[in-house]
Amino acid sequence: MRIEKKKDELLVIVQAGEVEDEYHADMVVHGAGRVPNIADLNLEAAGIETSQDGVVVNEYLQSISNPRVYAAGDVAAGGLPLTPVAMVEGKVAADNLIYGLKRRRADYRVVPSVVFTLPKLASVGLQEAEANRQGLQYDVKFRETADWLHNLRINEAFAGFKIIMDKAPAEF
Ligand SMILES: Cc1cc2nc3c(=O)[nH]c(=O)nc-3n(C[C@H](O)[C@H](O)[C@H](O)COP(=O)(O)OP(=O)(O)OC[C@H]3O[C@@H](n4cnc5c(N)ncnc54)[C@H](O)[C@@H]3O)c2cc1C
Repeated sequence: MRIEKKKDELLVIVQAGEVEDEYHADMVVHGAGRVPNIADLNLEAAGIETSQDGVVVNEYLQSISNPRVYAAGDVAAGGLPLTPVAMVEGKVAADNLIYGLKRRRADYRVVPSVVFTLPKLASVGLQEAEANRQGLQYDVKFRETADWLHNLRINEAFAGFKIIMDKAPAEF
């Protein structure tokens, strides 16, 4: 509901159903996510279908209910709300808007993800379980890298990478 700044602490007042509760904290981190900023645009007037995640678009980032409208970035439902994703989507939407002909599709296959644990976990592309599920033929390269300079520098005792390479020629 709100956060009150007290002399030596922050007071977080929450409400779950009818019950109000309060928490005392030194620091508050907001992790509740974001909503697309479209509520005031009166998109219904233009017949633009929206969901909780934003303007509902097809793979060309074109509104599914009003083909004259395109959406990209945080206001478009579909891709993750990240800056590089918004940039790529902007290019896709602009290309399709300017040139028409449904030229480009939004492709989310190489959006990376990171979990900021110790050690950090990062991945991009298919993981081995998914590659197996798809019945792909692949090679695996694994290497521990704790002895690499940048890991020694930050005293990262556990580090490594695993690369999964599709044996089939790449399709672009
Ligand atoms: C606290 C925080 C941390 C984040 N950290 C990361 C991160 O580490 N990495 C990452 O990749 N992403 C991060 N993001 C997400 C990232 O900022 C967004 O995904 C990205 O900015 C989306 O780009 P966009 O162009 O869709 O929207 P925005 O960057 O929000 O741009 C929309 C623009 O439209 C303007 N606007 C709004 N309404 C109107 C209107 N009616 N008329 C004209 N202009 C209007 C706004 O003022 C704004 O300038 C973070 C976001 C937040 C809030």
